[in-house]
Amino acid sequence: MNKSKKIHMKTEEFRKQGHKVIDWIADYYDHVEEYPVLSQVKPGDIRSQLPDEPPIKGKSHDEIIEDMNIIMPGITHWQSPNFHAFFPCATSGPAILGDLISTGLGVNGMSWETSPACTELETHVLDWLVDMMALPKKFKSNSKGGGVIQDTASSSSLVALLTAREKASNGKSNENGANGKFIAYTSSQAHSSIEKAVKIAGIGKKNMRMINVDEHFSMKPSHLRQLIEQDLKDGLKPIFVCATVGTTSSTALDPVNEIGKICKEYDIWLHVDAAMAGPAALCEEYRFINEGLDYADSYNFNPHKWMLTNFDCSIFYVADRSQLINTMSILPEYLKNKTSDSESVFDLRDWGIPLGRRFRSLKLWQVINYYGISGLQQFIRDHMKMTKTLRLWIESNKDFEIVAPTPLTLICFRHINGNAFTERLLTRINESGKAYLTHTKLNDQFIIRFSIGQTSTTIEHLKKTWDYIVKTSREII
Ligand code: PLP
Repeated sequence: MNKSKKIHMKTEEFRKQGHKVIDWIADYYDHVEEYPVLSQVKPGDIRSQLPDEPPIKGKSHDEIIEDMNIIMPGITHWQSPNFHAFFPCATSGPAILGDLISTGLGVNGMSWETSPACTELETHVLDWLVDMMALPKKFKSNSKGGGVIQDTASSSSLVALLTAREKASNGKSNENGANGKFIAYTSSQAHSSIEKAVKIAGIGKKNMRMINVDEHFSMKPSHLRQLIEQDLKDGLKPIFVCATVGTTSSTALDPVNEIGKICKEYDIWLHVDAAMAGPAALCEEYRFINEGLDYADSYNFNPHKWMLTNFDCSIFYVADRSQLINTMSILPEYLKNKTSDSESVFDLRDWGIPLGRRFRSLKLWQVINYYGISGLQQFIRDHMKMTKTLRLWIESNKDFEIVAPTPLTLICFRHINGNAFTERLLTRINESGKAYLTHTKLNDQFIIRFSIGQTSTTIEHLKKTWDYIVKTSREII
């Protein structure tokens, strides 16, 4: 911190204001439940309160904190115990503090040399996770593979697809472009980020095959095989399959084992997207989600969803890092250094898209150290238990029906009065600010998704929300 110039915040002021900011955050968590979960502002409400011009003369930091009063109404409270929308972004004290230290250090871990600890801690903690979650050993750095932290699951899928594309063209597609014949496959229930990756990677949407799903919304391997064979007959080249473990709409589990066998038979890259579901494997009893990973060329899950590590932190493993590095590596003169030349270290800029990298492993490391394996397991088990109880409540109410299996912590249900009614009910719940839930469509039915995974959610919160849903459904009939 600059001690001399007048324009900078001196360390004494930083210390004083920093304590206030920590108090501010702690107060926020103490009161987060009191805010409407979904922000109630209208488009433009926040901007209309911001001055047209930035200040010429800087403000005091107290005034800057005061300005948070403009911002707060425009916050949707992801950390509220009544947040059940999408999938969670469950955070925790050690994660926030770890991230703060990372921000304070302000390092850019683009290569080993630019902060050796940043690279080595990341590799080490991701090796730990392989053991903690009983993942295949091929993902460890002492084998041919390894792990790296990406910002999001979307980036992980994209990086996997780019590597598959490069592999399929013997390292030529970065030079010559995708050849219009490469085909990618995923299920109709896969996350939209796979389609986005297909577009960005130049595969082209027309070369993306959506595989049908069964009655549980899991990919049908027979349909995958059928489309691969047809594409081969048509002179096309299947290069990439993305299986999902825990789909966004309903947490359906694709049969990775069977899909993996097909990929092996046809030499197709298999990426497994377990963005939300992955952390369940911290507990032995839920390791069914790892089934088939021995076939996976790459695997992804997000500690920023369900492992108490605040956004962003997405783990990406590859079975053969050389393929990833060959795809991503680029070495202009200004990045050359002796340690990199010696090939004795990893330069993680070659494991993803951006050059610059935040020190994300610090917060993950501190979370694992703070909770220990047993604390993390308890976190997962508590949510699984609560979900079972909520499911029983929903099942025993004849006005509602559950429309998909609940292998983990997402319950998909609808009101028996049909789509329009269920949609109206959801709107009323969200407008109330008492809880925030989102929807999906399954078999053309409008479905409410009740996603459990927030750090501070208790069974009492779930009871209150469920009672409110039932009460509201009676009021709007
Ligand atoms: N994959 C799955 C299965 C998801 O559920 C999600 C988001 O919910 C994603 C990918 C995208 O995650 P991210 O926001 O990390 O890109």
